[in-house]
Amino acid sequence: MNYISTRGQSAPVSAAMAIKQGIAPDGGLYMPESIPTLSEDTLKELCSLSYSERAAKIMSMFLTDYTYDELLSDCKEAYGDNFDGYAAPVVSVGENARVLELWHGPTCAFKDMALQIMPRLLSRALVKTGEERTALILVATSGDTGKAALEGYRDVERTKISVYYPVNGVSRAQKLQMTTQEGSNVNVCAINGNFDDAQSGVKKIFGDSDFAAELDAKGYFLSSANSINWGRLVPQTVYYISAWCDLCNKGDIAFGEKIDVCVPTGNFGNILAAYITKLMGLPVGRFICASNSNNVLTDFFKTGTYDRNRDFHVTISPSMDILISSNLERLIFLAAGAEKTKEYMASLAKDGKYTLDADDYAKIAAEFEGYFTSEDECRAEIKSVFDRHSYLVDTHTAVALSAAERYMNDTSAKCKIVVASTASPYKFASSVAGALGLEVCDDDAKVFETLSKYTSTKIPSQLSDVLTKEIRFKTVIDPEDMKASVIDFIS
Ligand SMILES: *Cc1c(COP(=O)(O)O)cnc(C)c1O
Repeated sequence: MNYISTRGQSAPVSAAMAIKQGIAPDGGLYMPESIPTLSEDTLKELCSLSYSERAAKIMSMFLTDYTYDELLSDCKEAYGDNFDGYAAPVVSVGENARVLELWHGPTCAFKDMALQIMPRLLSRALVKTGEERTALILVATSGDTGKAALEGYRDVERTKISVYYPVNGVSRAQKLQMTTQEGSNVNVCAINGNFDDAQSGVKKIFGDSDFAAELDAKGYFLSSANSINWGRLVPQTVYYISAWCDLCNKGDIAFGEKIDVCVPTGNFGNILAAYITKLMGLPVGRFICASNSNNVLTDFFKTGTYDRNRDFHVTISPSMDILISSNLERLIFLAAGAEKTKEYMASLAKDGKYTLDADDYAKIAAEFEGYFTSEDECRAEIKSVFDRHSYLVDTHTAVALSAAERYMNDTSAKCKIVVASTASPYKFASSVAGALGLEVCDDDAKVFETLSKYTSTKIPSQLSDVLTKEIRFKTVIDPEDMKASVIDFIS
């Protein structure tokens, strides 16, 4: 199966090439030229498999230039001992909410689900495409991608990775996780600006052909670990299908029964992966896109106009503090086709906004619903979920749970709703402890203890370990200096 650009101006490429390049030469995002389908038999078979086997089977439907055996061996490594237990368990919270916990990996956020496997896919892609240069991975992060990518790529041969995060836009734990990163091929840099500034900086470097030539002469080419890369998205389809199978196996839903899906959303990668599973044939009703007060997507689903011209808010769910949701382009492409996507994106680049044609909007509005959760609602949700269900959630998951509850009330929806839980509550311990009315201070170790004692939950060792590690990366730069920092890093 080949991959085509959402903007229609680049030649189709193989999956390995799409993963290697990250972004299409015309600035568009790669999409499979057709979506494979899950027959009833396949779904039944998937129900009987382990997580790694499900992952290999589903990914082999998209990555047709990888063999099933290659994928199975990679998935077994990616989703084995690196995770504390089952990779993606589903937990019942109340009558209808089913929380899909995606944070049992090495960095305690859902990004591990993709970034534990993706470096393996890229290593194979280098061989499959006859590439002889070193892959230089540039990552803009709102906090969680950075650490997950560093952990996934560290000491992977023929790769180097440089991560850029907004200097005041990540939690203390997130910052420590990144600045203490080990490995001989890694670099971490803070940016004076917000996530969009970091992302725009990385995108600009990717679009700079002179710079590409300079890197080429040094034996490097650029690749991306952000969710614009298809290699990030395809592993994310797996856990929605897997959750549905697990609910069937438990008898919580009948075979063939529909679920709704609610996802705390930033760059729109996670929820897009969920939508793709519906196109494959997974029984899913509606998609609830949950945002924090950076609610550009809520307005988009309500009106059909995407308008990023608004204030940027720093919230307690920082991994969703985003005004340009890159992967929305893929949804637009699925609804409107390449020609119109190119126009909408040109308008976004020029005016910071676009309005969908009525037809395109109707298609999207039939599938998606947008809700946003204010800071106060988020804190209240953390407390109320813990008080009612003795279940502890992080700020991002609380944004989604609150949205899911309002959606269920508004629509008297009958489906079970799978809510993606995207981070361990300990990753945002101060905000979570504060929401519960506990005492917080600047000492993370103390906050971890307080939270653990009050909630009888375990402190993840992945997070307590970084508190005592040496800080390796202290550089702060302006977005204009990112190119120079890249050259510095590889020199
Ligand atoms: C990245 C992230 C999100 C947003 O996911 P997208 O795929 O960018 O929409 C939500 N919650 C957490 C904890 C994250 O790390």
